[in-house]
Amino acid sequence: MSLLLVYSVLYALVCVCLLYPPTEFVSSGLTVEGVFSRWLGDPTTDFIGYQVRRAALKRIFVAFMPFGYFALALKLFHEGFYLPIDVSGVGMAVGWDTMALLCAVCLAFFLTYCCFVFTESLVGDWDWTPIAKTLEDFAGPGENWRVVASRINSEVARADNYTTDPRCPIRVVVTENWIIQVNLFGLDVACQENAVFTLHSSNDFAISHHHVLGIQFLNLVVSCEGHNRKSFVVRIPSTDFEPLSLRLRRQIQNADSIPIAKSPLDKFMHTFKEWAGRNPRVEYAGELEPCVGCMERPAEVKLVRRCLEENVRSVDVEYNGQFLRLSTCVRCQCRPMWCIDCMSKWFIARQDADRPGTWLTSRAPCPTCRSPFCLRDVCYLASRVPAE
Ligand SMILES: [Zn+2]
Ligand SMILES: [Zn+2]
Ligand SMILES: [Zn+2]
Repeated sequence: MSLLLVYSVLYALVCVCLLYPPTEFVSSGLTVEGVFSRWLGDPTTDFIGYQVRRAALKRIFVAFMPFGYFALALKLFHEGFYLPIDVSGVGMAVGWDTMALLCAVCLAFFLTYCCFVFTESLVGDWDWTPIAKTLEDFAGPGENWRVVASRINSEVARADNYTTDPRCPIRVVVTENWIIQVNLFGLDVACQENAVFTLHSSNDFAISHHHVLGIQFLNLVVSCEGHNRKSFVVRIPSTDFEPLSLRLRRQIQNADSIPIAKSPLDKFMHTFKEWAGRNPRVEYAGELEPCVGCMERPAEVKLVRRCLEENVRSVDVEYNGQFLRLSTCVRCQCRPMWCIDCMSKWFIARQDADRPGTWLTSRAPCPTCRSPFCLRDVCYLASRVPAE
């Protein structure tokens, strides 16, 4: 493989990483936004101002890329600086003179573009930018885009908004009246009043760096009813479906009945109930009080150390296609005081949140006396019908 090809691939990779920075880049501050953070300002107090400057910066950065490519190539290979290599084997399709000419053209383009952005900022006061044009559509009679911007700014600063990971280059913010998607060079904006959310499709990933149990992403189309604005697509993890729904004024439409994956927590609660349903019922003659966890449902489960009664020192259970070994528990005589939901939440709260794969084989202390119990020990009372 020619050296120039390797260089080109590496250069493209670095550019993509700077435009769509992975979390490692973000946490180390190695992003365009990180380097120019002082000029960009504070996104919490002046959200729109920050986005206008950030989008301009990203455009300048993209305009710089071709010049950077040729300039660096010339520096490295033609002049042979810094590299102890034989530059004759670089694998050039064109001569160095052509390279130098292309470099000059790209520099001229870059400088012209910089002048354009500076004019946009100093003379036009950002009035001609795509973000200003987008916001102008939402301005009332006699208002300009700045009025809309200040409305959005005051709402974005509130704490009760729905927002996706702020470190991602593409993120969604839903406030009381606005739906805003930050993308590379601008913003997609919709008004809650007439925005319609439709679940369009979903993508499942078995393993991700976010979740051990895999993750599902939902693609939602946001269209503005009665407006001739273009609709746009927002992408959220399925675990965000409920928090997003709660923030929206209208229900999310799911005409194709696309199944939405449960969070690891919901999945485990379901498994917990399934196990309790499989365990034998126990008779209990005493009086039943409301569950001490929620005070809503009556107590419905009792902890019977079946693993000990069966004289099993350890048991194998199947989970996610694997057989896992359970250790033993300690008997207790506590009366039923919990409903199945609260018992499963109590159990989950005592597990290692980062390792959901181990929950099924772990134990938790009895809520009353702290003796350990496992999933085989959670039994419904014979008088109770298990809830779905
Ligand atoms: Zn309860
Ligand atoms: Zn107990
Ligand atoms: Zn047990």
